[in-house]
Amino acid sequence: MQSRSDETIAPASSFSPPSQAGYTGYRASRGRGSVGDSPQLPVEIRNYLDGALSRLIAVVSPDRTRVDRSGVRFFRAPGRVNLIGDHTDYNGGLVLPMAIDLAVFLACLPSRNVFLISRREPGLVALAPDGSQAVSNYSLPEWGRYVQGVLVELTERGRPPKGFYGAIASQIPPGRGLSSSAALEVAVATAALALAELSLSPWELAEACRSAEQRYAGVACGIMDQAISIMGKAGHALLIDTARKSAEQIPMPELFDIVAIDSGVRRSLAEAAYNARRQECASALQMLNKDGRIGKIDTLSDITEEHLNEATKPLPAILAKRVRHVVTENVRVRKVSEILRELYSLYRESPDPKSARVLQSRVDSCLAKLRELLEDSHTSLVTQYDAGHPTTNFLVEQAAHEPGYIGARQTGAGWGGSVVIFAKKGTGADLARSLIQQITRNPQTRNIAGPDATAPSFHVCKSSQGASEL
Ligand code: ADP
Ligand code: MG
Repeated sequence: MQSRSDETIAPASSFSPPSQAGYTGYRASRGRGSVGDSPQLPVEIRNYLDGALSRLIAVVSPDRTRVDRSGVRFFRAPGRVNLIGDHTDYNGGLVLPMAIDLAVFLACLPSRNVFLISRREPGLVALAPDGSQAVSNYSLPEWGRYVQGVLVELTERGRPPKGFYGAIASQIPPGRGLSSSAALEVAVATAALALAELSLSPWELAEACRSAEQRYAGVACGIMDQAISIMGKAGHALLIDTARKSAEQIPMPELFDIVAIDSGVRRSLAEAAYNARRQECASALQMLNKDGRIGKIDTLSDITEEHLNEATKPLPAILAKRVRHVVTENVRVRKVSEILRELYSLYRESPDPKSARVLQSRVDSCLAKLRELLEDSHTSLVTQYDAGHPTTNFLVEQAAHEPGYIGARQTGAGWGGSVVIFAKKGTGADLARSLIQQITRNPQTRNIAGPDATAPSFHVCKSSQGASEL
């Protein structure tokens, strides 16, 4: 993927085939990490991966311990934080994630089959390059399903992977709202394509990885996580239209610390609740099309704000609430994107003293609007979508009392999980520490965390580039 001056990634259908000149499909090019703002491979991770690869080769191919190591290739795929737009992706709506500075790294060397180990997870993945069968007597570890899914999906899309020895090290804690699973899929897919000297458009690649997760890990996920891990750009968030399969880079002003706080509340009921919401949205869509008063719609996101009241009239109260959330959330995602653009251009102007005050008042007005939109999104998730949790509510409410606060909302599916906070640059870490202290000390939030709770944690997210070879 090239960085393009128009900041827009066209829908997949508009990509020309590889044989035509100007093809901009996804293909990891060698050495990208050494240019521009691509993040480097941390030395500690590189050393670990080098050693792990040697150990892997010694175990699975003892006669090949003298394999030429000069050809080791490194790949990286980032995690993400979703700034706004929740429960919209499976309703054909808008989302605004940002690729972050935590990533999955993969080192590999060519082989006949795929042999992969991970620093974080036990077991050895040993599969035929097309993912069809296990190699020797190795049984597939749980996490190997993601890998298998990717190999099968690439093969089915006419991009058969070649074998490789691979070692993975990840900076993304799993299950903490930063999308470690999509980064894993994208890292494997990026490496597999590069080793086989093949390419896929960004959207096809995202679809392949999403489908791998759905079919092989059994997770009914939307396409956001894979798309942002592939198409993320340093200094930007990505406005994704999930129905049109188009995406637009939104420049992030250098004003914020974007803080992701994982409440530690594990969402034991979340999967069932998430599936129930998806079902409710499907029912609402069906009823509206049967009723016909707003014409034929393909997704709930086809309903405009203008037609919202009319659209919700024939629906039972619960379904009307779900539709209200989806439609208003789409509007908020677009507005937040516009505000970020405006702040970015305001921030770049260096005013003469006379206009400084005018500029400041425009910045203040943008920040006030941003706060309102983030908080409205949170309220909508809690009151219209019934996806809240007392601990994440507490975090969002208390954040507003902290120095540096700009705006906050629950992010991800909900029913616990994470919140995202916009704070003034330099204040995010203190703000997060203070909030975590409060939920840990407060008997109310501490006691409702549930038996499977983990310690709360936070990350001040820097934006980063999407997946590439390093
Ligand atoms: P997240 O929100 O972080 O994506 P998921 O539950 O969707 O959480 O995915 C977590 C799963 O992804 C893990 O249980 C594991 O199977 C897989 N996974 C994530 N990171 C790694 C890794 N570094 N190595 C192996 N498997 C991983
Ligand atoms: Mg995941």
